[in-house]
Amino acid sequence: MKIVYSIVAPIYNEIDNLPELYRRISGVMESSGETWELVFVDDGSTDGSTDKIRALAKADNHVRPVIFARNFGHQIAVTAGLDYSRGDAIVIIDADLQDPPEVILELAEKWREGYEVVYAVRAEREGESWFKKFTAALFYRIILRITDVKIPLDTGDFRLLDRKVVNVMNSMRERHRFLRGMAAWVGFKQIGVEYKRAARHAGVTKYPFKKMLLLALNAVTSFSYFPLQVATYVGFFAAGIAILAIPVVIIMRMTGSQAFIGQTTTLISVLFLGGVQLISLGILGEYIGRLYDEAKGRPLYIVREAPEDQ
Ligand code: UDP
Ligand code: MG
Repeated sequence: MKIVYSIVAPIYNEIDNLPELYRRISGVMESSGETWELVFVDDGSTDGSTDKIRALAKADNHVRPVIFARNFGHQIAVTAGLDYSRGDAIVIIDADLQDPPEVILELAEKWREGYEVVYAVRAEREGESWFKKFTAALFYRIILRITDVKIPLDTGDFRLLDRKVVNVMNSMRERHRFLRGMAAWVGFKQIGVEYKRAARHAGVTKYPFKKMLLLALNAVTSFSYFPLQVATYVGFFAAGIAILAIPVVIIMRMTGSQAFIGQTTTLISVLFLGGVQLISLGILGEYIGRLYDEAKGRPLYIVREAPEDQ
């Protein structure tokens, strides 16, 4: 049977959200009158979500479970969902009902008009801390400034992708993934649809600060060399100041000035340049570490249980 819509939902300890998520998605998809499947990727849950997914799949064969051997992270879980989905249009949605399933129909409408990437833009966000909103807003703006791809502002992974786009993205096997950037990078006809981002239905965020920071680092390193170039700019700037300062200090000394005598000036400049050099080295390390990960060529994820019909 030809499948029109694939809904991909990554699940990491979302047991209290699963029944409601399934209920709302299946309601919306049935009302579309098209064939559909729901790909649940269990990203190493430890709270019983795995059994719940298995039970849902048993009761309804629209549900196709992909169960990971351990936690691989949100972006990788979504990647597996894209790999396993078979539909003509693929919708990525969070499992905590922050992305209302009803919006899927609006995304699908644009797809019917011929758009190949329809991303959902967060016009409003409910129930999130000011810190999360502030860091998110800052993050999207920095990314836009320093990366080479124009990632739309205030969009998450909630979006509809045409089969053509998913095929291209599936061929991009980089492991430090930033899917929003990849979806922007591929091109195609893109459009945004505004929606109101709801509060989490149940449970707490699975994105602690550390994971957010890692996502931000992956986003920057995957799409920009700017951090590497900063060292060059600072180097030229520091060397420029030194070249100007040398004759000034020589002349001052010859005219008997007492300025710049003592260790403080030396210490400050040594500390400053030492700091800049260490930071540059750290940035270099971020890129080299990622290069090393890619060179190892390990699989992106390990599946313990694939859908039966695969
Ligand atoms: N998630 C995942 N693996 C992880 C962390 C999160 O699959 O390691 C899933 C999670 O279950 C949810 C989605 O990714 O469906 C978004 O996570 P969350 O809602 O916690 O992020 P937030 O909305 O707070 O940014
Ligand atoms: Mg969420």
